[in-house]
Amino acid sequence: MSKKALFPGSFDPLTNGHVDTIQRAAKLFDEVIIAVLTNTSKVSLFNSNEKIDLIEKSLQHIENVQVISHVGGLTIDLAKDLEITAMIRGMRNTLDFEYETNIALMNKQLNEEIETVILLADEKYRFLSSSLIKEVARFGGDVSAFVPKVVNEAIKEKYKKLN
Ligand code: ADP
Repeated sequence: MSKKALFPGSFDPLTNGHVDTIQRAAKLFDEVIIAVLTNTSKVSLFNSNEKIDLIEKSLQHIENVQVISHVGGLTIDLAKDLEITAMIRGMRNTLDFEYETNIALMNKQLNEEIETVILLADEKYRFLSSSLIKEVARFGGDVSAFVPKVVNEAIKEKYKKLN
C-alpha cells in the first residue's frame, strides 16, 4: 500500500521553511498532499487559489507532491477521506511544541488510525514564519532570502497594490 502524507497549513505565504519540510516529507512518503486550509477567523494576504498557484510553482522540482484546497470541516476527516497514513507538521521552537502537541493529541482522539509526524525545522529556518515575512515585506523589507522567488515577486505585487 502506498504511504500518503497530508501537510495541512495556512501557507500565507509559503516560506523556505515550509519548502524544506515538504522536501523532507516527500523523501519519507510515496505521496505528499499539501492542503491549503482556509481559516475563516484569520484575514489572509493571499486567497486560496493564489496560494495554490504559488505552492505549485515553487515545488515543481518535487514529483510526488500535490496541492489541494480545504475549506471548512476537520482536517482529520479530510485525512481519512484521502486515505492518509500520516499528517505532517513542522516544529520550530517550544511555542510550536505546545501548539502542535495539542493538535496532534486531539487528532489522535478523533481518529487513532492516523499518526502525526512532526519534523523538526532545520536550524536555518527556525526563525521563519509567514507572519514575520509579511511584517517585514509590508514595510518594504527584502524577504527574497526567505521565500521562493515566485512568492517574493507575488508579495511585492500585493503590497504595491495595498499600500
Ligand atoms: P498553520 O496556520 O496551520 O500553523 P502555517 O502555514 O503557519 O499554518 O504552518 C504550517 C506548518 O508548517 C506548521 O506545522 C508549522 O509549524 C510549520 N512551519 C511553519 N514555518 C516553518 C518553518 N520555518 N520551518 C519548518 N516548519 C514550519
